[in-house]
Amino acid sequence: TEELIVQSEKLSVIGQLAAGVAHEIRNPLAILSGFVQFMREEHISDEYTNIMLAEINRMNQILEEYMQLAKVKQFTYDEVDLSGLVKETLLLMEAYASLSNISIQYGIQDKDCLIRGDSNSLKQVFINLIKNAVEASVQGSKVEVSVKRTSGGYAIIEVKDEGHGLEEDQLKKLGEPFFTTKDTGTGLGLMVSFKIIEQHNGEVTVTSEPNKGTVFSVKLPEISK
Ligand code: ADP
Ligand code: MG
Repeated sequence: TEELIVQSEKLSVIGQLAAGVAHEIRNPLAILSGFVQFMREEHISDEYTNIMLAEINRMNQILEEYMQLAKVKQFTYDEVDLSGLVKETLLLMEAYASLSNISIQYGIQDKDCLIRGDSNSLKQVFINLIKNAVEASVQGSKVEVSVKRTSGGYAIIEVKDEGHGLEEDQLKKLGEPFFTTKDTGTGLGLMVSFKIIEQHNGEVTVTSEPNKGTVFSVKLPEISK
């Protein structure tokens, strides 16, 4: 599982980076293409401008293909039952946690907590947060995961550990690409997770105390009834 989780973390970042790069390159390419076209119309060295145009078209084609790839990974927004999704995630992570003698416990589980979202991406977020919590935990401690509804129409998913916590300056770096304090960490999990929550109009807040533990709290708008 460890390997799989790391792999999917990397993949989703690469997907996002590729889409970002493709998007950025498109505009200068279009401008370049316009100038070359103009040069050809003015008969400025037809032979060379033809080659340049052909090459620009080739680049465009490659970009198109990348954009297609990124599109496949685009979100589908369905009705998602949060406590169901969190339970599925816990099942996945329990074996991983027990390897380090850490128990994952269900906290409050408000039923019928419906949101609109991409369940695969959200699952990835919860996997990231729980994996981090387990990795920060000391042997024999517990990680608690809860799903609650607020009166204001939000769902709150909390992942709480009794681990080593974070210093003030580390807290500020959370979500920066490649920020990791682990020997074999990617430093990408939180960046991807924060992005996914942002794309769901949600919010992530973190409170942490060194040597006491950390709470990651994800707030998502509920489907109004
Ligand atoms: P990685 O897990 O590969 O290091 P992440 O983006 O998932 O990358 O996390 C970045 C860093 O944030 C971690 O290396 C760790 O220092 C810190 N961190 C994340 N979650 C926790 C947590 N629950 N407790 C303590 N530190 C954490
Ligand atoms: Mg991580």
